[in-house]
Amino acid sequence: MVDLAALYQETGDIPWVVGLSGGKDSTALTMLLLETMEMLPPPVRNRKKVFVTCVNTLVEAPPVIDHVHAFIAELRNYVRDRDLPVEVVELLPDVEQTFWVNLIGRGYPTPVREFRWCTDRMKIRPGKQFIDDNPEIFGTPPVVHFLLGTRYDESISRQRTMEAHTRLGTDIHSHGIMPTAGVIRPIEDWPTEYVWDYLLRSEWAKGGTNPFREVNGRLAVLYKDAASGECPVIHDPTQQTCAGSRFGCWTCTVVEVDSSLREMIDSGREIYEVEKLNLLADFRDKLRDERNLEENRVHGRNRRGVTLVKRDGSVGTGSYTMGYRKTVLARLTELEEKIGECLITEDERLLIQQIWVEETANLALKMAEQTEAAE
Ligand code: SF4
Repeated sequence: MVDLAALYQETGDIPWVVGLSGGKDSTALTMLLLETMEMLPPPVRNRKKVFVTCVNTLVEAPPVIDHVHAFIAELRNYVRDRDLPVEVVELLPDVEQTFWVNLIGRGYPTPVREFRWCTDRMKIRPGKQFIDDNPEIFGTPPVVHFLLGTRYDESISRQRTMEAHTRLGTDIHSHGIMPTAGVIRPIEDWPTEYVWDYLLRSEWAKGGTNPFREVNGRLAVLYKDAASGECPVIHDPTQQTCAGSRFGCWTCTVVEVDSSLREMIDSGREIYEVEKLNLLADFRDKLRDERNLEENRVHGRNRRGVTLVKRDGSVGTGSYTMGYRKTVLARLTELEEKIGECLITEDERLLIQQIWVEETANLALKMAEQTEAAE
């Protein structure tokens, strides 16, 4: 059992960073940290800077990102009213690495299990960038503790990963890619039922009432709807990666069937804009179905004109053709008009055009060189 209040004091002014996905575990962790901080005397709690970071991939499922924004808004009010040294930061992927820039701009085929290019670029790197961009807070190399909502109860594979990073005799475990950083897992022993009880209970620190009870109630509905209608209190929505999670991207093709959007639609609940969700789900299904069609892919070379040959000597399959990329962009623009919402930013559109121009010019140059060499 992690004694968070004791750790807070023992770790002095080393900054703490909470990764908030908006899912139940990271929400519970954030609440636990707030309650702990509130119980500490101000001179002690103000020695440390705490950041709650939330990555918005820009392709989050709309009901999910709406919920996350609602939670973040309440969180910001809460820490402001109580003068807690907590900063809530929404992080975005670099425009160079968004879903649409890679797919429509560079022609990366939609992600699948064997080629899951998205998670690192869209979810991991923004968090790392945040640390690198703030050396005056975290130092160089960074000395920081990340608080994660991982739990042994989640799955066998999650348990194995946690064990692999466990340091015996301390509650500050190793960080996979940052040797000078540490990882604290305050709710590692919590069973799933307890997480839900904690999120939805009415009590709060110092005899107050849970300020997040209402917004968490909406989170419970989200879980319920995206898990075939099962009650979150008795259902364990185990997730090993973001793929297949109800907190994944609406564009995700790593799972064969995007059950979360479809289940929200099928729930019949009025809070969901069913027509919009249907259009998004259809768009995503089409991306999945068209991924491996021969006519959509470049054969025998990659997008820079480098010849692709497999080990057995056959011709390799490369990125999406320019024609298909243009089709997807046109379709996305049409979808935006239909639902009246921005699905791709202006910066992404500009960068895509730039990538296309450069690629076309490079390819023409390469071809001219090859023709010259052959003569
Ligand atoms: S939800 Fe799917 S598309 Fe989004 S980052 Fe995870 S694996 Fe990639």
